Amino acid sequence: MPIDATLPYDDNNIFAKILRGEIPSSKIYEDDWAYAFPDINPQAALHILVIPKGRYVSWDDFSANASADEIAGFVRAVGQVARDHGLVEPGYRLLANLGAHGGQEVPHLHVHLFGGESLGPMIACR
Ligand code: AMP
Repeated sequence: MPIDATLPYDDNNIFAKILRGEIPSSKIYEDDWAYAFPDINPQAALHILVIPKGRYVSWDDFSANASADEIAGFVRAVGQVARDHGLVEPGYRLLANLGAHGGQEVPHLHVHLFGGESLGPMIACR
């Protein structure tokens, strides 16, 4: 069920619980700004979620309200995860869903990192 990305941050969202260690996840990467773990329902050979440690609902919230350090740290973390997995030469895809039209289901900003195979069209054929 897509979320309303204009609502305030909900500390009970599933990724907040993952960050607090209340729900298990397999850590792929962690630094002061970001945490990465495998998507539970992978849509590609490699499907990693990278989330900021701060309380941001969406890309909109993050881009408007995060500090320069948070933004730099998060963006660098996404790139580092991709490099760590050898994805630069074969290529990869990033995706951040936002709100109803974007199909965002979890109200904590997350970037999907897809790779490990040719990913096909940018948006499913309709
Ligand atoms: P989105 O539609 O962009 O909000 O994507 C949410 C993603 O979170 C989906 O791809 C889910 O498979 C994934 N997801 C939900 N719960 C978990 C979890 N506990 N661990 C890992 N991934 C999850």
